[in-house]
Amino acid sequence: MTATAERHPELRAALRDLFKRFPDEYFRKVDAARGYPVEFVDALTEAGWLAVMIPEEYGGAGLGLAEASVVMEEVNRCGGNAGACHGQMYNMGTLLRHGSVEQKRRYLPGIASGKLRLQSMGVTEPSTGTDTTQLKTTALRRGDRYVVNGQKVWISRVQHSDLMILLARTTPLAEVKRKSEGMSIFIVDLHQAVGKGMTVRPIPNMVNHETNELFFENLEIPAENLIGEEGKGFKYILDGLNAERTLIAAECIGDARWFVARSAAYARERRVFDRPIGQNQGVQFPIAENHIETEAADLMRWRACDLFDAHQPCGAEANMAKYLAAKASFEAANVAIQTHGGFGFACEYDVERKFRETRLYQVAPISTNLILSYVAEHVLGLPRSF
Ligand SMILES: Cc1cc2nc3c(=O)[nH]c(=O)nc-3n(C[C@H](O)[C@H](O)[C@H](O)COP(=O)(O)OP(=O)(O)OC[C@H]3O[C@@H](n4cnc5c(N)ncnc54)[C@H](O)[C@@H]3O)c2cc1C
Repeated sequence: MTATAERHPELRAALRDLFKRFPDEYFRKVDAARGYPVEFVDALTEAGWLAVMIPEEYGGAGLGLAEASVVMEEVNRCGGNAGACHGQMYNMGTLLRHGSVEQKRRYLPGIASGKLRLQSMGVTEPSTGTDTTQLKTTALRRGDRYVVNGQKVWISRVQHSDLMILLARTTPLAEVKRKSEGMSIFIVDLHQAVGKGMTVRPIPNMVNHETNELFFENLEIPAENLIGEEGKGFKYILDGLNAERTLIAAECIGDARWFVARSAAYARERRVFDRPIGQNQGVQFPIAENHIETEAADLMRWRACDLFDAHQPCGAEANMAKYLAAKASFEAANVAIQTHGGFGFACEYDVERKFRETRLYQVAPISTNLILSYVAEHVLGLPRSF
């Protein structure tokens, strides 16, 4: 139950109907095997859910961020993890907003039909981390090609994608007026790249999240794969962040609702000292608090969606929604462990898995400190700290 009426009930009903085929055991087995939920992502793709934001002229549903956010929320709310497939939703936006007509015609219909997967975006580097403008990977023009050298880290879903958007420096830092200039984005055909200048090394990690180190040694990319204008890539990546943050907020809200529902159900059923544990206010109150904080975060998520879909500035709202939702979901995860006692640690209850999964969102794709820094500087006018 939620306090506010849920928006898009018809979309939710259709998604829940599809998700009946994927019970908790399915996600648990995939997690235990450190596998990829192939059948789940295929089902979402075949039903067109990952193409909701692609315009109809390219074979998508032509819907907004609001509808896309419902898809992502429901994935996490059913016990799954949208981290396996959310890249497709926001990477596509970069191509849509900044790609040429030719590029859109070449890639978007395939992405909409599921023939092509655009699940990966390569930005983060090991030596520069959050300080993106200092990145070291270079792409130098040589005739009709760019030659890429450098290294990336934490690049997700490369092994389950056909295409990747890559950010690299095309003009040395010393030759640009502003450090945000001189970087460009490219579409990399992963089948052409792997073994021919690009090496992929998987990173074992706390979550079952396919993510990798990438090494580039003279990788050649056709010049026609440059997206937009050379030198403006960082701006294009920033353009996509509001959608990304709002979608992640929706995923966290899906997680938070899953945790609250599981905690409440367990607290109603589990009897200790001859009473349901949920009769104790020490058990009730944290769950009630989680519910309140989730509902508040959800209001900010809708505010961000509405502004984005109305083509209004929404940087503050998207950042605040991500902050509130990631906090609410992690707090709800922590309470769910406590409410389940020892069983919170047992894999068969799925709480420990979802706990690990939702913890990620305080760090990636953007860490909480960077959101606070955005709000301090851009909303409150405090001095820039870096
Ligand atoms: C599972 C996973 C999947 C990922 N997938 C992708 C992907 O697909 N593509 C991609 O490009 N990247 C991806 N990332 C990378 C992710 O975006 C970064 O990990 C994240 O942005 C933080 O960067 P960092 O790890 O280099 O941390 P650092 O930049 O080293 O920062 C470490 C800590 O210090 C804090 N910090 C740093 N500077 C400041 C400051 N000035 N003020 C206050 N605090 C500061 C940060 O907030 C953080 O908490 C992924 C990461 C993970 C863990």
